[in-house]
Amino acid sequence: MTLSKKRKNGSVVLVGRPNVGKSTLFNRVTGSRRAIVSTEPGTTRDVLRAPVEWLTETFELVDTGGVFGASNDPLQEEVASIGLKALDNADVVVLVVDVIDGLLPADKDLAGKVRRVGVPVVLAVNKVDNSKVEGRVGEFHALGINLVMAIAAEHGLGIGDLLDEVVSLLQGSGHHVKNLKSADSRDDLSVAIIGRQNVGKSSLVNVLVREERVLVSDLAGTTRDAIDTVIKWNGLQIRLVDTAGIRRPGKIASSGLVDEVSVALAKRAMQRADVSVVVMDASARIAKQDAAIAGEAERAGCGVVLAANKWDLVKMRGSDFAKEFDRDLRDALKFVEFAPIVHLSALTGERTTKLLETVYKVSRARATHVSTGELNRFLEQVTKRHPPASPGRREVKIQYGTQVGSKPPRFLIFTNIASSFHFSYERFLKNRLRETFNFVGTPIRLLVRARRVRSSRGS
Ligand code: GDP
Repeated sequence: MTLSKKRKNGSVVLVGRPNVGKSTLFNRVTGSRRAIVSTEPGTTRDVLRAPVEWLTETFELVDTGGVFGASNDPLQEEVASIGLKALDNADVVVLVVDVIDGLLPADKDLAGKVRRVGVPVVLAVNKVDNSKVEGRVGEFHALGINLVMAIAAEHGLGIGDLLDEVVSLLQGSGHHVKNLKSADSRDDLSVAIIGRQNVGKSSLVNVLVREERVLVSDLAGTTRDAIDTVIKWNGLQIRLVDTAGIRRPGKIASSGLVDEVSVALAKRAMQRADVSVVVMDASARIAKQDAAIAGEAERAGCGVVLAANKWDLVKMRGSDFAKEFDRDLRDALKFVEFAPIVHLSALTGERTTKLLETVYKVSRARATHVSTGELNRFLEQVTKRHPPASPGRREVKIQYGTQVGSKPPRFLIFTNIASSFHFSYERFLKNRLRETFNFVGTPIRLLVRARRVRSSRGS
């Protein structure tokens, strides 16, 4: 076997004995986009390939079909070599096994072949669609593959989790995956401190650096001028991304382009952040730029925490002022109505610990996975009371939902006819999701699709 070449597109290869459910998984993942069927030269066997967009990420999914394990096939040698070729080009392999059949010698055989390819492997134990068979997943650990995911391809169970793992393995293999956060994986959490000039970003970074242990200061980032600072807090490694401009304030402050520069710097930082802390000056008016920056953080899919800095200057105004301030802030920053507000002072250090706690909580919420069962119970309850608004005469019904990703949480919702909701219903549903599953401070993405029904024409 030759060493796998690094290719431009991430290649995720499904392997497994016949009838374990590879094609079902392939179709489930590739969805309505039909596979581009490429008949490999010299045989009649097809290797299916299709681009998969895991929302913002893309890779190529390859189904080796029946090329492995059909031992009475006269073309066995040849087709197996095609399968091996696909394997050779794999960036990640998903070995599919069947929980009903249990662990068979052929699975062990394949696991051995796959291991020799030397790329990350996920074991997908298929057909786990009831609690009776759940207990049998354990026996597959004998294959020596660490990452074991229980799925039910036919019912779409566990597919989101599986794809999340696949994408993070692609990233780990050095493969370029679009839009994935590129911060060092050793860090527990990446935080962008963003905001307009003079709101106190550099003061905040400095107080965090002073109060928490700085692990690596001024660590080179991805570009020459992107400098990160890593601090240790409560056993967590927190990367403050892109602190170059922040820790050396004043360089651009005299420029007339200050605000555009702030937004540009903020954008760059939030590309690499799990959570963005939007710093504002509580003693000044909330500006359009504050809203623009917070809106960008939401768009980037970051968790968002609103830091009302310089609170030392306003706190003598009492609790009514605090309420009024928060109300004004909510009004001005409608896009991030979900973001928690922390009143703090970088000057005195007051509530900077609270800030880190909040940031951590938001990062956990952003990574949360809701099981398909739980989600559908939730959808059933919510829609019973508040059915989606109907765009036409026909009644829209939510049929099924599944969380297809996290960081930020992404939900795919199937309806009978609609492929989008009225924005007010979308907002309603997001808010209910937030309350029910405690998605504090994180954007939520909803994808709505009309489920295709075989016997009827789609609308
Ligand atoms: P940056 O441009 O956002 O990095 O802002 P700086 O950190 O340079 O702060 C701008 C000014 O606000 C400086 O004069 C700071 O001393 C002051 N400042 C920052 N944080 C606070 C705070 O919490 N309270 C008060 N009173 N002043 C602050």
